[in-house]
Amino acid sequence: MLYKKLSELTDEEKNKLIGRGGGDLANVEDTVAVILEDVKHNGDAALREYTRKFDGADIEAIEVTKEEIDEAAASIDPELMKHLEFAAGNIRRFHEAQMPQKTWFIEVSPGIELGQKFTALETVGAYVPGGRASYPSTALMTIVPAKVAGVKNVVMCTPPGKDGKVNPLTLAAAKVAGADHVYKIGGVQAVAGMAYGTDTVMKVDKIVGPGNVFVTSAKMQVRDMAEIDFPAGPSEVLIIADETCNARMAASDMIAQAEHDPNAVSVIVTTSENLAADVKAEVLKQAEETLRSEIVNTSLANAAILIVDSMDECIEFSNAFAPEHLEIMVENDDEVLEGIEHAGSIFVGNYAPVPVGDYASGTNHVLPTAGYARIYSGLNLAHFMKSASIQRISKQGLETLKDSVIALAEKEGLQAHADSVRTRFE
Ligand code: NAD
Repeated sequence: MLYKKLSELTDEEKNKLIGRGGGDLANVEDTVAVILEDVKHNGDAALREYTRKFDGADIEAIEVTKEEIDEAAASIDPELMKHLEFAAGNIRRFHEAQMPQKTWFIEVSPGIELGQKFTALETVGAYVPGGRASYPSTALMTIVPAKVAGVKNVVMCTPPGKDGKVNPLTLAAAKVAGADHVYKIGGVQAVAGMAYGTDTVMKVDKIVGPGNVFVTSAKMQVRDMAEIDFPAGPSEVLIIADETCNARMAASDMIAQAEHDPNAVSVIVTTSENLAADVKAEVLKQAEETLRSEIVNTSLANAAILIVDSMDECIEFSNAFAPEHLEIMVENDDEVLEGIEHAGSIFVGNYAPVPVGDYASGTNHVLPTAGYARIYSGLNLAHFMKSASIQRISKQGLETLKDSVIALAEKEGLQAHADSVRTRFE
């Protein structure tokens, strides 16, 4: 774990933090391409073969039946089902609030009405990770918004355990969220199955959802066949803190992020040297006590505690880092929030730890990692919709546009374009 003044970071240390993740994707590109090609040509047989190889499971049926899903949901403790439904309700409400006005017009000048019509995508694939941990919460985060948007076919892929079965809570979440088909395949093979389609797996228009570096690379490589949301790889948090931040709370948020994946990244940038020292002591203590200490201790090698002289420096570093999750634990949080330009999801105050957004507050936990928050928004309703522009124009309206269109079309040498307008006045 790096513990330093930000101004004293070497170029190499800074580049490792800011440029995180990119190298890992390049390393697996070729391996991933081979699997994609195999599934493209050999369909279901390749899906079964890779599931045996990577998940250690012998599967015959690739699709999980409705009966199996119902049975799994019925096996869940009713108290836990209530929590799942509570989380799904909050996610639904937050995404419903993002619904655009489906069709709207403005009159830009007499006789010229311009507008937009929003419609849902038809078929979407949700990737729900299931390698190192299972992610029933990700089933809610990907499927609920798709259904709120009005996507007709929402299919879900998640890897099975060695027994060839999918985690029952993930199946229960798929049911609560409203998935139309569930396939027990994961990794690159699942992405390939959804992008190209097989005898069993429905071909989708778009693939959303997070995954490890193999899944992320696969998503990036199938974009000629299926649109994707964005690269959502190993998790990361950046915490901006001053002396009012509670060291134990900040440290526990760093550990929580670190337990996701050996490549997870936890960083705190603070104006307080005392807090930095306390956070370091707390992180080391909690890392020993936590359940997944092996993964935590590996990923803490990517962690950093950075000390700065001013809040402006914190903000500047955070914008350069473009974190997936940003926690703001300072006295004047409004001022810091104002300065933030690039972050996947922002958590303000000592009582908004990242896990609330991971599970139940209602915001989406599928977020761009590795600095991609510079250019992508986290998963939201717009990812499942598209818009068509509309124009409704009267003869009077066309009159105002006529001369400009004819002049520009003729200058481009497109005589028929000019005539299409001219003919309406003859
Ligand atoms: P996963 O489902 O992404 O990956 C498991 C699959 O990886 C396996 O089924 C296997 O097919 C494939 N695989 C493993 N080793 C391979 C190899 N050597 N070659 C080819 N394929 C291989 O599950 P995971 O590994 O637990 O990763 C989940 C990731 O998702 C974590 O990094 C976690 O941080 C991340 N996550 C991100 C977000 C986000 O929004 N950014 C949200 C939740 C989880």
